[in-house]
Amino acid sequence: MELFDSHAHYDDEKFNEDRDEIIEKIYSSGVTKFMCAGYNLESSLNGIKLADKYDYIYTTSGISPNDVNSTIEETKKDIVQLRKNIIDYKDRQKKENKIDKIVGIGEIGLDYYWNAENKDVQNFAFIEQIKLANELNLPIVIHTREAVMDTLKILKQNPVNRKGVFHCCPFNRELVKEALKLGFYISIAGTVTFKNAKNAREIIEMIPLNRLLIETDSPYLAPEPVRGIRNDSRNVKYIAEKIAEFKNMQAEEIAKITYENAKTIFKICISREKQ
Ligand SMILES: [Zn+2]
Repeated sequence: MELFDSHAHYDDEKFNEDRDEIIEKIYSSGVTKFMCAGYNLESSLNGIKLADKYDYIYTTSGISPNDVNSTIEETKKDIVQLRKNIIDYKDRQKKENKIDKIVGIGEIGLDYYWNAENKDVQNFAFIEQIKLANELNLPIVIHTREAVMDTLKILKQNPVNRKGVFHCCPFNRELVKEALKLGFYISIAGTVTFKNAKNAREIIEMIPLNRLLIETDSPYLAPEPVRGIRNDSRNVKYIAEKIAEFKNMQAEEIAKITYENAKTIFKICISREKQ
């Protein structure tokens, strides 16, 4: 079974002791592509370094709602720097005739659970990075928590050309329904395996197979039966298994479909460039 983990953080300090070792173990376990998602300026640069080092790692660059600066002015400067870093990288890859492995802008979005006092800055950063994604013709990777209405409002008012992915999508009926209507993919994380995941089955049933992705969000959110420990992409199989159970399919089929979907949305294989 070959798997694609569409969202993880291998620059996280929890991997400082054994990063290279674990990355190689993941690849040999059958997770033959995975994403290192950026969440601030530094981690976006770290993601690029990992993507440079490993053929099978891809990356997204962005500033998450929990990493925005204290003012709109400062956040604006950060996004200018983010844009510069991405463009410098793209130019370098082009010059050296290497593959461009920044395949999306993210994670970006809104998080009113952790930060409810700076909604204006979060909204600004989200909208500005949607503009950046459109300028660079990249899809976006969305982080949203306790902010369904504002997230949907921003996406409706600021159309994203290449669409994108709701990463670790909350199991919120309205959000999933509207996200699908807007043309987005839904990425399911380890929370689907948790025993207290209330409407998980209903949400999984709502998502058509051609819009489904799976992810670990490593090192966080380890799924059952390994919940509570440091997560890594080898555990993405448990998410495929749970979805297969809900959809009455084989885990191998879910693995294959989500692998192809990730390649499609992130334009990873040139022959699948159809969006
Ligand atoms: Zn993440």
